[in-house]
Amino acid sequence: MIEKAVPILDELKIEGLSKDNLSAAVLRLDLLHPLVSGNKWYKLNKYLQEVKEKNCRSVLSFGGAYSNHILAMAAACKEKDFISIGIIRGEQPANPSSTLLNAAELGMHLFYISREDYREKKIPPAVMEQFPSAYIINEGGYGHKGMMGAKDILAFPEAPGFTHILTAVGTGTTLAGLTAAAREQQQLIGISVLKNNFDLQTSINDLLGENEKNRFTLLHQYNFGGYAKHTDELIEFMNSWYRRTGIPSDFVYTGKLFYAFNDLLGKGFFPPSSRILLIHSGGLQGNHSLRKGTLIF
Ligand SMILES: *Cc1c(COP(=O)(O)O)cnc(C)c1O
Repeated sequence: MIEKAVPILDELKIEGLSKDNLSAAVLRLDLLHPLVSGNKWYKLNKYLQEVKEKNCRSVLSFGGAYSNHILAMAAACKEKDFISIGIIRGEQPANPSSTLLNAAELGMHLFYISREDYREKKIPPAVMEQFPSAYIINEGGYGHKGMMGAKDILAFPEAPGFTHILTAVGTGTTLAGLTAAAREQQQLIGISVLKNNFDLQTSINDLLGENEKNRFTLLHQYNFGGYAKHTDELIEFMNSWYRRTGIPSDFVYTGKLFYAFNDLLGKGFFPPSSRILLIHSGGLQGNHSLRKGTLIF
């Protein structure tokens, strides 16, 4: 069971760390479960507890065709015996993504809505009729309970020993949880994978208490063109990172995180003796949408 799993801390042994007495480790949330990608499990946890407490039987959320959140929800709901409903952005495709195929196989009920309706998160009336008491979770698990669940990512004994904590950022719920859980002297750095998503600062602050607000730094220059966009440079980096470390990454989130870390390291961003934690938030299943052979892992 995922609940009991303790994440592995992978010490990095790469060039560029030793000269300033730096050290770094990767928290391998990607190893927790093949489908319930790392941080998604933590983010869903408190919502699903409430589903149970309220005796709801069905859970509904929103996502795109490659949404790790949708797939994680499908897997978690199957495990907990809840009915899962996915409201998916856009027309039903002739060839659904492997993310959606997997979600359907796990028993998720999928409904496609237009991009306009999706923007307003309009639930089709027929869905409301079929599942009148469905518990609704925001797109990406954004919200207070998601943040509270993400706090547990730092509930491992070595966590207080890190000076810097880096994570990839979509909705920012995970970064909010890490910020709320971190010690005051720890620096939190979020790598935004969306293009020019400058509302992030506010949406993360909205999840935080007064003295936690703005206690994190967002970097916007590592998005490689935006959400789920990638370049040859990013793919080459992911392959070379795997050769150097044995750690696989995904092109939507963690590839950009490791690229940013490597770049910051080369630029002397980290003060001497820093101890850096990189959160491997999972998402590897998303690589199935790349052409076979693109990645060496
Ligand atoms: C969803 C996701 C994120 C982003 O998490 P947020 O809490 O939305 O910022 C990061 N990494 C992976 C692999 C994800 O699937």
